[in-house]
This record gives sequence, C-alpha cells and structure tokens, in this order.
Amino acid sequence: YNAKRAGGGHVVYQHDDDRESRTRLELTSALRRDVGTTAMTLHYQPKLDLRTGNIRGYEALVRWQHAERGLLMPDVFLPIAEQNGLMPDLTHNVLSQAVRQCAEWHAAGRNVSVAVNASATDLRFERFPHEIATLLEEHGLPARALTIEITETMMLTDWATTDRVLDRLTSMGVGVSIDDYGTHHSTLSYLRRLHTARELKLDRSFIADLLTAPRSATIVRSTIELAHALGITVVAEGVEDAAQLERLREWGCDQAQGYHIGRPAPPGALEAAAQFAKS
Ligand code: C2E
Ligand code: MG
Ligand code: MG
Ligand code: MG
Repeated sequence: YNAKRAGGGHVVYQHDDDRESRTRLELTSALRRDVGTTAMTLHYQPKLDLRTGNIRGYEALVRWQHAERGLLMPDVFLPIAEQNGLMPDLTHNVLSQAVRQCAEWHAAGRNVSVAVNASATDLRFERFPHEIATLLEEHGLPARALTIEITETMMLTDWATTDRVLDRLTSMGVGVSIDDYGTHHSTLSYLRRLHTARELKLDRSFIADLLTAPRSATIVRSTIELAHALGITVVAEGVEDAAQLERLREWGCDQAQGYHIGRPAPPGALEAAAQFAKS
C-alpha cells in the first residue's frame, strides 16, 4: 500500500484506476502488434434490397481476435487505435480484406457490393483515394462494388481536405454513405453540404420505435421522402423484426440491415447460410 492508498474511501477507486490503465497499456501494445495482421478479422452483415428481396451487399465490421481475451468488439479497440495513430493501418487492413473478399464473391458469380466504415482520420489523408484505387486494381474489383461509410462527427474538422477526398472517391466510382443518420446535430446542413453521398443509413434508434412512437414514424417516413427527392438511397439500420421491415417496405425504404435479416458473421458462415436458404 502506498501513501495514496492509505486514505479511506479512495482505495478502491485508486485500485480500479490502476488496473484500468494497465489494461489499456496492455491493449495498446497488443493492438500495435496486431493491427496489420489477420488478428483483425471481418464479420459481414447483409444489406437487403426491399424491392427485390435480394441481398445487395455486405457491410464489413471489424473484430479483434485477441490472443488471451478472445473476440473483441470495435467499441473496445477503435478508440485506442484512434488515440495511438493506428487508424490508417487498421483501415488499410480492413479495406484490403474486404476488397479481397468481395472480389472472391464476384469470382464466384455473386455480384454483391461491400461497405467499409471509414474513420475521421482516413478522410483527412489526401492519399486515401489512391490507397483504395491500388487495392481495387490489385484485386480486380470494380469501384462501384465498394462503398465507404462515414459519420457526421468526422466532418467537424478540416472540411476542405475531407471534401476533396470524398470528391475524389466519388469520381473514381466508389460510393459514399452517411452512417448513423439523424443522431448528430446539424444533420440537415450536413446533408446539404455532402453532395457526393449516394446513400443514407437511418440510425437504428429511429427504427427501434418506428411502430410505437408516431413522431419517430413521421421522421422516418419524411426522411425517406427527403432522401429520394435528393436522389439518395435509404438504408434502415437495426431492423429487428418482420413488422418493422414490412412498414419500411410500405414507406418506400430502399434497403434494410439488422438482426432480423442477418447478424454480422464470418464469410464462411454467410456462405453456409446461403446454401441453407437454397436447399
Ligand atoms: P455501424 O457502422 O453503424 O455498424 C452497425 C452496428 O450495429 C454494428 O455494431 C452491428 O453489429 C450493429 N447492429 C447491426 N444490426 C443490429 C440490430 O438489428 N440491432 C442492434 N442492436 N445492433 C445491430 P459493431 O460491429 O459493434 O460496430 C460498431 C461500430 O464500430 C460501427 O457502427 C462502426 O461505426 C464502427 N466500426 C465497425 N467496423 C469498423 C471498421 O472496420 N473501421 C472503422 N473505422 N469503424 C468500424
Ligand atoms: Mg456502418
Ligand atoms: Mg450505423
Ligand atoms: Mg455506428
């Protein structure tokens, strides 16, 4: 026991703080080691086309297969990656795996697209579009098969660079999607500014009470109309039951994602599910 710990009620907190910062240090050095390797693994969640009933594509969601701690979710390690300058390496790894996987689907005759989540850091790198172009070429995947998902909070700084990067991606043919739409302030001015976006993903908080809260219902319905008037495709996130899906279809929502349609899973499991559906 050191002097700090000698005094009463603070002992427990002090102890927890120590343990927490040790854990964080450990995770940071492990992440530094693993960030460019296949310990970073991708699960894919389907995007369902509500008009045709076909799977249009998959969103790649990163997980970390940690040697001792098992499979870790992005909320645990993305902040560590961001704070330690590891994001460019992580994104490159994710992009490379996702593009390779999608090229494999194409080679197997499945004309699906893949979506990758970008971080704020990525959009401030002028060479980001070039990095993507190189990967697409390397794997022979057409640019239109790739979508980059961005969130509003990424736009708050260095708009000029971000704008150039997004313009460049768009002119290459890569899709730009606005993730978690509606959860941040100034959503409308963001939508006005982001003239390159071709898809909007309605945050799952609006979908969750779609059937029970008239205000959410009105917001969802009018956001679909607004997006369509701007020529933007709408994807509903977090669809968890058939009734939500049916209502969204009635309202002209273009695509949907969520546990009701399919949970994020490794590519092998997706193929098994597709086989199962066919038989
Ligand atoms: P996101 O891009 O909005 O992804 C959707 C999240 O909601 C995923 O969580 C997904 O598993 C979860 N989800 C999907 N359907 C449902 C549903 O029906 N109900 C509920 N309750 N949840 C659902 P996940 O995989 O934990 O990812 C969390 C966030 O981490 C993502 O949110 C994204 O912002 C970020 N992320 C994931 N992978 C990457 C990556 O490779 N790079 C970067 N920069 N960020 C990533
Ligand atoms: Mg996303
Ligand atoms: Mg989202
Ligand atoms: Mg999110």
